[in-house]
This record gives sequence, structure tokens and C-alpha cells, in this order.
Amino acid sequence: MGGRASGTALGIVSFYAMPGAFDYNSHPPSGAFGMRYLILSDIHANVTALDAALAAVRGRWDKAVCLGDIVGYGPDPNEVIDRIRGLDALTIRGNHDKASSGLENAEDFNPVARHAALWTREQLRPENREWLERLPVGPVTIGGFSIVHGAARDEDEYVFAPAQALDGLLDAAFPLTFFGHTHLQGGFTLRDDKVGALHFKPPESTMFSRLTIEEGTTYLLNPGSVGQPRDGDARAAFAIAELDERVVEFWRVPYQVDSVQARMARAGLPQSLISRLASGR
Ligand code: ZN
Repeated sequence: MGGRASGTALGIVSFYAMPGAFDYNSHPPSGAFGMRYLILSDIHANVTALDAALAAVRGRWDKAVCLGDIVGYGPDPNEVIDRIRGLDALTIRGNHDKASSGLENAEDFNPVARHAALWTREQLRPENREWLERLPVGPVTIGGFSIVHGAARDEDEYVFAPAQALDGLLDAAFPLTFFGHTHLQGGFTLRDDKVGALHFKPPESTMFSRLTIEEGTTYLLNPGSVGQPRDGDARAAFAIAELDERVVEFWRVPYQVDSVQARMARAGLPQSLISRLASGR
């Protein structure tokens, strides 16, 4: 990463080490203390995965947050938008939301993604298309943390590797930012001038892994994708943040993949999109 990056990192780390810099209550919305946030991302019009996730954590959260890509790829765009609107989730837009609502023309999408975006555009009820079109661009702040779709400086940027995460970690307005877009559950940390990578693999038996948020560390965390995971685990991925307890839970919940695949086949969506759901790739 070179000398420039590490020199800059030192300055920022010492800033975050200042007393009070990690006091989440210094930036609360009213009633933020004790709030448990359900963090959803990349649902991609898969209502079966979303419903399984919501059923698994009923009563465990207070406020839902959605990091974009509500639609695209999957067979249930209206149903998923209806659910998210019904939850009153704080929602920002993703690249597939732009393409499916017509805000962008999907020219930079690969042919399979473009096919799905254009199919989605035809399916959307007018009020749902308008709702998608009006979604705010990240970063948006809630309860002392930020949410972005890809990255803070560019909503369409993919953050796969520590080197790509460094700028976002250095520039972070809060110690904790949630991002999506890569469909990989995990994230990155900055502590003592070092960038670290986090990976989670909740075992089949427990459904979630816990991360303790430590003072003096900056976090970029990805809850994973509800509707199209790509880390080799087909289960729906999402997170719950309990910041008063300094804990983020990374969840995996199984759902009936074949019922989604059957609806996709009936809709004539591309076979490669149908197949990948079963392998989580
Ligand atoms: Zn996505």
C-alpha cells in the first residue's frame, strides 16, 4: 500500500483513539440507545430468502436498514419491495435498483444481469418503480453508523480486498460502516495502522457468528447477500447490530432455494442465475 497510505493511516488512527470518539451516543437519532438494527443487503428480488430471514429473527431487532439491490436477478421484485416498504426500512439504492427503475440503462451490465434488469422493469408496479427511483444514494447515517451500497465515495465500487478497503476505512465518518454490493459476508478493520480482513462462516447448527466491536478499531462490515450469496454458502446472509452491547451478529438462514428457482424458470430468467443460487456462487 506504500508509504503515503501508512502515513495517512497513522494520523487517522490516532484521531479515532481520542477519548469519546467511539461513543455511539454522541450521534444518536432519538431513542437510538439500545436499538438493535437489522442490516439487510442485496436481496435481489428473492422473497423466499427474505421471508426466511425475517422469520428467523422475529422479535430480535427494532429498526431495519437496507443497503440496496432490493431487486434484480430474482423473480419477486414487487413482493420484495412491498416487504421492505412494509418494514419501513431505511433504504439506499444499489446499481440494480438504478437499472431496474430505468434511472440507468444497464449498458454496463453483463448480458445476464441486463436481461434480468429489463425483465424486472417490465414487472414493477408503477408505484414500486417510483419508490425505487427515489431511493437515496449512500452514504446515509443512522444511529452512529454509516451505510453505503458499494463504497462511500462511489456507490458502484466493489470492495473485495484490504487494499480496496483502505480509503474507505481512512475516510470513515464513523467507526462503523456497513456496505454491500460484493455479496460476501465479512469485512475489513483498521487498527494501529493495519488493515485486517474478517470472514464469517456460521456453522449449520448455530445460524450466526458474533463480532465484538472494539474501541480504537474502524470497521467496514458487509452483512452478505440475502437473496444471492456468493461466498459458497447458499443460505440467506444478513446481520443484526446491537451497538449498545458492541456486538454485530452475522446470520445465515436456510431457505427453499428450489421454489425460487422454479419461479425464475417460469419467468424465463437466465439459467446461470437460476443455477448459482443452489451453490451460493
Ligand atoms: Zn447486488
